[in-house]
Amino acid sequence: MTFSPIAVDAPFSRPWTLAAPIALASVGLHSGRTIQLSVLPAPAGTGLAFRRVDLPGAPVIPALANHATQTYLSTTLVAGEASVQTVEHVLAALWGLGLTDAWIDLDGPEAPGMDGSALPLVEAILEVGVVALPGLRRRHAIQGGVAEGERSVSVVPSDRSVVTIACDYGHPDAGARILTFDLTPAVFAREIAPARTFCLQHEAEAMRAAGLAKGGSFDNAVVFGPDGPSSALRFPDEPARHKALDLIGDLALVGAQWSGHVVAVKAGHGLHVALARQALAPREIPV
Ligand SMILES: [Zn+2]
Repeated sequence: MTFSPIAVDAPFSRPWTLAAPIALASVGLHSGRTIQLSVLPAPAGTGLAFRRVDLPGAPVIPALANHATQTYLSTTLVAGEASVQTVEHVLAALWGLGLTDAWIDLDGPEAPGMDGSALPLVEAILEVGVVALPGLRRRHAIQGGVAEGERSVSVVPSDRSVVTIACDYGHPDAGARILTFDLTPAVFAREIAPARTFCLQHEAEAMRAAGLAKGGSFDNAVVFGPDGPSSALRFPDEPARHKALDLIGDLALVGAQWSGHVVAVKAGHGLHVALARQALAPREIPV
């Protein structure tokens, strides 16, 4: 039976996968290459796993924190010789909608940047719907915390999945914000998924000069300059919501549906992934 993850709460005790494959293509934010993404249904126990279908043997790269390496500007996963960059927005879309098992096929080294948010993928998933798989959904109460100067991510015990973001980019349109919400598929789809990647104008110039963010443009990122944001904001606190999107994508690397109240203060991919490593769910023992 196919159902919408944002309309149905009852089967939440079961693992979920997509009801049908979906595909989209767009430019990678950092590589500037056009990448084809396909997300396919997978059996229970697969977890969320990338496949580099452009490489011989289509190597699998599990979306687990122990496969995360580089976290500068985006999160990269590695397995053997194969790697995939900028995984966080795709993982946020899947995890945020409650999907536990899916193959994520890419024909290049980076996930597509879409419009800078997770919305195009969320809309595609909502269009095909999801199906419940046999067995019970894996749940994992996370704990731990990491800090680096005034930046931190920590977990307060909770039997729900709750996120608090505190950030301040020192710009009139991206100033001090605190955002707290209970993470459910409906809240994720409506309040978090549409929030786009952003940076300050001087950061954009520095990245360009360093040959980074080759695929970045006003079509897939908001740039905050002296005259305000480069396009109309989707939410007054869109940067804080995008930080939540990044956090949700990075914490998908825990490898289970986590519960806890995660408090992120001026954090980024490095701290998110460090927490995901501490909180990594124990692997299931096959029976
Ligand atoms: Zn992001």
